[in-house]
Amino acid sequence: MQSKDNMQSNALTVDEARRAILQSITCTSRTESVEVAYSSGRTLAKDVIAHIEIPPFKNSAMDGYAIRYQDAKPDQQFKIIGKSLAGHPFNGTLEAGEAVRITTGAALPKGADAIVIQELVKLKQDTFTTSANLAAGQYIRNPGDDIQAEQTLCTAGTLLTAADIGLIAAQGISHVDVFATPTVGVFSTGDELLTATDQPEYGKIFDSNRATIRSLLANAGIDSVDLGICKDDKEALDSVMQTAVSLDFVLSSGGVSVGEADYVKEVLQANGEVLFWKVAMKPGKPLISGTLTGGAHYFGLPGNPVSSMVTCLQFVIPAIRAFSGIAYKAPPTLRARCLNQLIKEPGRFEFQRGIAKVQESGELAVSTTGLQDSHILSSMSLANCFICLDQFADGAKTGEMVNVTMFSSIDGLG
Ligand code: AMP
Ligand code: MG
Repeated sequence: MQSKDNMQSNALTVDEARRAILQSITCTSRTESVEVAYSSGRTLAKDVIAHIEIPPFKNSAMDGYAIRYQDAKPDQQFKIIGKSLAGHPFNGTLEAGEAVRITTGAALPKGADAIVIQELVKLKQDTFTTSANLAAGQYIRNPGDDIQAEQTLCTAGTLLTAADIGLIAAQGISHVDVFATPTVGVFSTGDELLTATDQPEYGKIFDSNRATIRSLLANAGIDSVDLGICKDDKEALDSVMQTAVSLDFVLSSGGVSVGEADYVKEVLQANGEVLFWKVAMKPGKPLISGTLTGGAHYFGLPGNPVSSMVTCLQFVIPAIRAFSGIAYKAPPTLRARCLNQLIKEPGRFEFQRGIAKVQESGELAVSTTGLQDSHILSSMSLANCFICLDQFADGAKTGEMVNVTMFSSIDGLG
């Protein structure tokens, strides 16, 4: 049962729109070599293969004494014949009854196969006895425990994390090949828009979308350039689109509805191609996706502040990531008990703004942020998740289980 609204507009569903966008994106062929230490948040363009095993040699997990396990008998007196410190191995071989002082990470001397931790020895000059109940191999780290030689450490398409970078650095690799960073330009459209240096004026508002969109991108590790504010004027729009053609992505907000000053679709058509216009979602229905002649991907985001954020999160960031070699992964859908009644009309998929919290019982619960209109930007500021209501659902009752996807951490810190 489709609502009139959706049937008349020929809007794509959220999934159809995302699929169409992702299908239109080819991963960039531009790559560059960057220092491993500065590769966080970059996407690997080539697999990284381990050439050495990790740990590379048998070593001690504790500070203590390396001994032969077979010597560990009650009243055995061990003679300390030397030391193996991290970075300074002991070069001899342990004989019966002998021990070598050893520190964490130091190479295990030849002949040794157990470590007695220093807390469990009774020292007397260069000898000791121990009450330790030993096991063979105790406190010894073996070569390859962590990584095997020839193992694929990270595959092409991996968005590098701190731990990945550590694994690569541990191989003594100094540089990795990553996909080049996409170039992204962001501008706002609207005769009503002022910048912070302008005097307030009746009938005008300060532009917030540019700052919001660029911050959403920055949070996703995507740099962008500021293309300013464009008037509701076909020629002005045309000129911005023409100067932006050499970028990989161009994002505008506003001017995509059916108002008399909404020219983005028409001017995009003149400068390239419209892939689709309108998605059966709320907020964010009048999203335009297309390309500029020359190849730049174009997104005309709706002007309402919440709509521009939701469409940026749902479509633009996955698209830029796909261009950078990162395959789309849907955010996990969590089930949460809804603490309010949610109003919705069937017809469009809704991304209502919610505050998810883990209750004392351990169950995830979600409450609404209140007014859900697309100009209520404070709803995004309060929220940590979207309450995802299916296209043909008609809201939710208090106490019902609903689907949520997080867009910031549950503790509100990230
Ligand atoms: P539009 O899509 O251009 O019809 O704009 C829809 C609503 O969003 C209007 O209330 C606009 O004033 C508002 N709006 C458009 N662009 C911005 C912007 N950059 N910052 C804040 N609000 C905006
Ligand atoms: Mg406008």
